[in-house]
Amino acid sequence: MGEAAVLIYVRESPQHGRGVFATGLIAAGTALITFRGPLLRREQVDFQDYHLQVGDDLYLGPSGGADDFVNHSCAPNGGFADGLVLRALRDIAANEEITWDYSCAIDEADFPGFACACGAASCRGIVRSFRHLEPEVRERLRPWALPYLRDRYR
Ligand SMILES: [Zn+2]
Repeated sequence: MGEAAVLIYVRESPQHGRGVFATGLIAAGTALITFRGPLLRREQVDFQDYHLQVGDDLYLGPSGGADDFVNHSCAPNGGFADGLVLRALRDIAANEEITWDYSCAIDEADFPGFACACGAASCRGIVRSFRHLEPEVRERLRPWALPYLRDRYR
């Protein structure tokens, strides 16, 4: 599990199901967790189960670890600055929920979106595919998006 195991823990989230929380104060820039799991084609994905889109026709299935439980926020404290490593975008307080913006990974043409309950003042209301975001939102999220999305839709 490495160093991240002492930084984070999983418990019930007020937002959705289980979530991942900071064990203690975490400094901005710290690697929080590396997303893992079996690489799957879309036709192999169980969409009822945890999955993370990492390419046009490429997904990570569940790892069974804490990375399966990190919830979305429209004002996240985590982002994918390098590959599948989630890093703290700012200092994170003890027991604060760790989140990332799911639009930084999802880019299905037919993704219907889902209603967001993140509670952020800047909540977009519906979480959409990267390609369906307003251009200015896409520009803001681009530095924290997965590599396969960084240079698209300019
Ligand atoms: Zn939201």
